[in-house]
Amino acid sequence: MSHKKIVMVQDKKIALVAHDNKKRDLLEWAMFNRDLLAHHEVYATGTTGEALSQQLGLRITKLQSGPLGGDQQIGAKIVSNEIDFLIFFWDPLEPQPHDPDVKALLRMAVVWNIPIACNRASADFMISSPLMEGEYNRLVPDYEEYRTRKIDWGAQPDQNHV
Ligand code: PGA
Repeated sequence: MSHKKIVMVQDKKIALVAHDNKKRDLLEWAMFNRDLLAHHEVYATGTTGEALSQQLGLRITKLQSGPLGGDQQIGAKIVSNEIDFLIFFWDPLEPQPHDPDVKALLRMAVVWNIPIACNRASADFMISSPLMEGEYNRLVPDYEEYRTRKIDWGAQPDQNHV
């Protein structure tokens, strides 16, 4: 499959999400990296975003709470190229009511090749990468081949015998 380039500009659109048992981790991480985050445009699911905006004093675009559709909103923004970076501290030890949404969000991040960090160490490496400092050409598979794939629609009704 060939690829297309999507340019990520210097100021990245970063989505932050944390499950309840991981919210403290994300808050500590975000406080430590507050000045770096301030250069970027930050989005978050409802409860995560509320806590972060209070503690960091940053302007954060808050979406719905995750279990109420917030994960899906972030997924949709990835598809329409409105989010180019995902920091998602999901809880590996507790089932969530919105597990299908969690899976869908992670899947969209892979489909559109956006960087994802699912724990603190990955988030540390990502935020401190020299690639954060400038434009980055993100390669995305050219899905035209997929869109124009051949489908077997079966026998079509004979127009003369309707
Ligand atoms: P919340 O959602 O920030 O509204 O708690 C997070 C999630 O569970 O996806």
